[in-house]
Amino acid sequence: MPNGRGLTPQSEDFSAWYNEIVQQAELASQSPVRGCMVIRPYGYRIWELMQGALDGMFKATGHQNAYFPLFLPKSALDREAQHFEGFAPETAIVTHAGGVQLEEPLVVRPTSEAIIWPILSDWIQSYRDLPVLLNQWANVVRWEKRTRPFLRTTEFLWQEGHTAHASEEEAEEETRRMLGVYRTFMEDWMAMPVITGLKTDSERFAGALRTYACEALMKDNKGLQAGTSHNLGQNFARAFDVRYQTEDGEHVLVWSTSWGVSTRLIGALIMTHGDDAGLILPPKLAPYEVVVVPIWRDDEQREQVFEAGERVRVELEKAGVRVHVDAREGMNPGAKYYDWERRGVPLRLEVGPRDVQAESVMAVRRVTPEGADRKLPLPMEGVAGVLRDMLDEIQDESLAAALARRESATVRGLEDYSEFQRLMETEGGFAFTGWCGEGECEQQVKDDTSSTIRVIPDEEYRSPNAPVRCLCGEPSRYEVVRARAY
Ligand SMILES: [Zn+2]
Repeated sequence: MPNGRGLTPQSEDFSAWYNEIVQQAELASQSPVRGCMVIRPYGYRIWELMQGALDGMFKATGHQNAYFPLFLPKSALDREAQHFEGFAPETAIVTHAGGVQLEEPLVVRPTSEAIIWPILSDWIQSYRDLPVLLNQWANVVRWEKRTRPFLRTTEFLWQEGHTAHASEEEAEEETRRMLGVYRTFMEDWMAMPVITGLKTDSERFAGALRTYACEALMKDNKGLQAGTSHNLGQNFARAFDVRYQTEDGEHVLVWSTSWGVSTRLIGALIMTHGDDAGLILPPKLAPYEVVVVPIWRDDEQREQVFEAGERVRVELEKAGVRVHVDAREGMNPGAKYYDWERRGVPLRLEVGPRDVQAESVMAVRRVTPEGADRKLPLPMEGVAGVLRDMLDEIQDESLAAALARRESATVRGLEDYSEFQRLMETEGGFAFTGWCGEGECEQQVKDDTSSTIRVIPDEEYRSPNAPVRCLCGEPSRYEVVRARAY
C-alpha cells in the first residue's frame, strides 16, 4: 500500500515502488504504444547529463560520433546468420511504405552492426585507414514481450560504439578499454559500484567472440547488466567482406568491437539509490543539485526572501552548480520539500525571513549520513563554495553507501547447492561460487533457481579462497558471480 506520500514502501513491493517513483518523480510516462515510453523533461535531463559525461569520455579515447540510418534491408541481417538468429524474434519489420508493399522489407535497427559494416567495407581499404573508432547516439527497437520503464522498453535510446582494428590484440584492448570507461562512469558519476567480467557463452552477444559486462546489484538484491563491450573478432568483417591491405600488400579481414549503454542506466540509478521517500540522485547526475525554497508570509517578506534566493542562485550558477528556485505560489513550503525529496534533489536551501536577517540560509540534505546534522545553517557569505564541497562529499558518500550495501548482500565461497537455492529464494544478492564450465550445469541452475551467471569476474574481484567445487559437485574451473537479475 502506498504510504501517506503516495509511495509503496520498498520492503513491501519493490516493483510497485519503482513504477510509482517513475511516475511521481516525472521521469517517464506511458505512450499509446505498449512498451514504448515517453521520457519526460526531468528524466531526459538525467539522460542528457549521462550523455554529456560519456560523450566526453568517448572523445577523450579517440572516438568520433556519426549517424547511420534507422532502417536496414532485411538481406543485410541474413548475412550474419548467428547475429540475425539472436535478434530475429525481437525485430520490427516494415513491409509497407508510401502506400505500397516494399520489394524488400526493411528492418528497424535492433542494433547497427548490419547497417554499419557494409558501409565500412567502402571506408576501409588500407592499414592507413585503421583503426576506425565510431560512436553513434541513437534509438533502437527490440520487440520485447514484457516491458518496464527504462529497464526494458521496445524502443530505447542508447549509444553504440563500433570500431575496426588491424589486429586481434588491438580489438581486445579496445573492448577492455571501453568496459573500463563504462566502469569509471558508473562508479564516478552514477555512484553505482559494478563488477566487471566476462559473460559465459550462453549470455554472449549474438555474433561476438567475447562479451564483457558491468554488473550492478540493485536495492532489491537483484543483479542488473548495466553495460556491455563485445570483441566481435572477424565475424562481421567476414560476413560483410571488410578487408584491408597490409603494408606487405596482403588483403586481410579486419577485427572489430561494439559496445553500448542505454536509458536502462536511468532505471539502474533509481534502483541503486532510491528510498521510501523517493528518488535519490548523486549530484553529478541531478538535473538540479540544489533547490532553493523561499519561505514567506506577506509581501514584504516575499520580496526579501526572493531577493536573497536570487543572490544565492547567481552565486551557485557562477560556481557551476545546477540550481533551481522554487517560486511556485499557493503551495506551502512543506509540500515543496516533499516534492523535491521525491525527485531526489541532493540539497535544498530554505530561505526564510529570519535567515535573511541573520544573513544565512538553511541547507538540508536529501540523505543524512549517520551522526551528521540534517539541517545546517550556512552564512550567505561564501555559500557557493561550501555547497560545492558538500555536493562533492555527497557524491562520494553515495558511492560508499552503495558499495557497503552491495558488499553486505554478497556471499562468497558457497559450495552447497541447497544453501545456494535457499539464498536465491530468500535474500538474493550476489553469490560468488564455483562453476565447472559446463553449459548444461549452467542451464540446470538457471531452471532450478531463476538465477544466472552474471559474469566470470575480473581478477581484482575474485575471492582469495575461491570454491574448489561447482554447485553440481564437479571440480570448479571458474569462480563466477551468480544472481537473479533484471
Ligand atoms: Zn557444474
